[in-house]
Amino acid sequence: MAIDWKKEAEARKDDFLKDLFMLLKIDSVRDDSKASNDAPVGPGPKEALEAFLALGEKDGFITKSTGNIAGHIEYGEGDETMGVLAHVDVVPPGNGWDTDPFEPVIKDGKIYARGSSDDKGPGMAAYYAIKMIKEMNLPISKRIRFIIGTDEESGWQCMDHYLSVEEEPDFGFSPDANFPIINGEKGNVSLYVNTKGTNKGGQNTLISFDAGLRENMVPRDAVAVFTSEEADVIEKAFYDYVESAPISGTVSIDGDQVTIEVVGKSAHGMEPRGGVNGGTYLATFLSNFSFGGDAQNYIQLIAEYIHEDSRANKLSLDFVDEVMGDLTMNAGVFTFTPEDGGMVALNFRYPRGMNVESMEIQLDSKLAEYGATISRGGVKEPHYVPADDPMVKTLLDVYAKHTGLEAHEQSIGGGTYGRLLKRGVAYGAMFPDSVDTMHQANEFMAVDDLMKAMAIYAEAIYELLK
Ligand code: ZN
Ligand code: ZN
Repeated sequence: MAIDWKKEAEARKDDFLKDLFMLLKIDSVRDDSKASNDAPVGPGPKEALEAFLALGEKDGFITKSTGNIAGHIEYGEGDETMGVLAHVDVVPPGNGWDTDPFEPVIKDGKIYARGSSDDKGPGMAAYYAIKMIKEMNLPISKRIRFIIGTDEESGWQCMDHYLSVEEEPDFGFSPDANFPIINGEKGNVSLYVNTKGTNKGGQNTLISFDAGLRENMVPRDAVAVFTSEEADVIEKAFYDYVESAPISGTVSIDGDQVTIEVVGKSAHGMEPRGGVNGGTYLATFLSNFSFGGDAQNYIQLIAEYIHEDSRANKLSLDFVDEVMGDLTMNAGVFTFTPEDGGMVALNFRYPRGMNVESMEIQLDSKLAEYGATISRGGVKEPHYVPADDPMVKTLLDVYAKHTGLEAHEQSIGGGTYGRLLKRGVAYGAMFPDSVDTMHQANEFMAVDDLMKAMAIYAEAIYELLK
């Protein structure tokens, strides 16, 4: 008997929305200031994990929390284990929301809330797919674990811990990107450009420069505070600059102290072209004026080498792989004070064929003239599962059957949990015509897309567990 997956999904829509709203209402931004042994990345992510596990238990699954930072919901038995890996932490909401980011509302068929598309909505759809298979009592020969992480948006501590105490699933996917599939993920590394904080000798003295909330987001807001001998000139020039740039902003003057605030547009750091970097626009404006010492260098290097150059051409780091695409660079966090000096976090997504050592050497050789030094964050190597892998084929077939659309392999710059498994990919939940609002203000996900995804997930998981 053929199963009508869409109908089965539709029958669960009300429950699905109720459970999803419950999860979206939890502010699960990582908060290190409230972290403890009991809640390693803060109370919000832990609360979201516990809420999801409680749901699994209520629905009759075996559940397990590992160190209050990750956990799983398990179903079925067999020699092989499939993993479905989702995360319940979210990036900070930032400014610019029309509604409360943690009070989900449905407008025009779309759920507006932080996490609606990244990744609570797709995660809940995948969970419901497993629940559907269980409720229909379908015959399966493998075990499945729905694995929940709470630190995906920052350091991936969750999965480091999980995989150190639990077995690695044999194959699986993460519902945290796009359909048809993401079987290639670029490497990911942050390289930090550091300068000292000297500041003497210019007509302006920089007190602070700040932009960006996370290395993996394009900064929307940027603020510079400085003392100036030419405040009026700068104020006028700034409003001229705003006229010709895709930003807004304000200048306030208090005696000889000037504060400039720039508002750009945030976006996911894996494709900086989707946003407008408030930090680089502000530095580029300031580079027209004279600052002293390292402050001048800091501003100048941003303007000359980082502004509006997501492919890092000016740093001579541009690189393309035929299957995996372009190297991209996002300047995600900026800080400068005279005491601590300057820092720009450059988050790179790089395809196979490029390596971190040569990127570091290249950055160093370009930026040494500004007295800058380079330091390195954690490295995730590029990941690729071949297009002829049987799991990849199954996932593509089910997608094509449900949508009538062409199914083809794809690579992205965003690291998803898919890369944690040797045979791991990302699969949905955005469709080719979905609007990508991940990490942005007014993040949303269409209810219909989630329902379609649920049906696809259910059939695909069933095919893979048979
Ligand atoms: Zn995500
Ligand atoms: Zn994300």
